[in-house]
Amino acid sequence: MHEWALAEAIIDYVSKVLRERNAVKVKRLVLRIGKLQTIDKEILVFALNNLAKEYDISIDEIIMRDEEITLKCRKCLTQWTLSPSQLPEDIREAIHFVPEVVHSFTKCPKCGSRDFDIVSGRGLSIESIEVV
Ligand SMILES: [Zn+2]
Repeated sequence: MHEWALAEAIIDYVSKVLRERNAVKVKRLVLRIGKLQTIDKEILVFALNNLAKEYDISIDEIIMRDEEITLKCRKCLTQWTLSPSQLPEDIREAIHFVPEVVHSFTKCPKCGSRDFDIVSGRGLSIESIEVV
């Protein structure tokens, strides 16, 4: 269900861009997906294509890029990346719904602090959109 809500927001944005630029269709849509979100890409593409049809929007190509999870310690300013495959599945599931949960499962590799910021790897964003 999460994927459908995201797809709806994307299509909403896409239709706005098409209107603003007086374009007829989307040639290429590039999405950036944070690894913390563990979005089901198949469902997302399915939802996007379905909604596009509903809104009478044609999208030639959808490209999805993964965004690495980057964390930054607030105490010593060390920056590091986290691979979700290092985490057990139930924790990945929890993070999918509440990304902040990551604070309980990882800590700064240098000073051991759990006080860190999530610099990247959260949510989903539209990297670029090409219309004709
Ligand atoms: Zn630190």
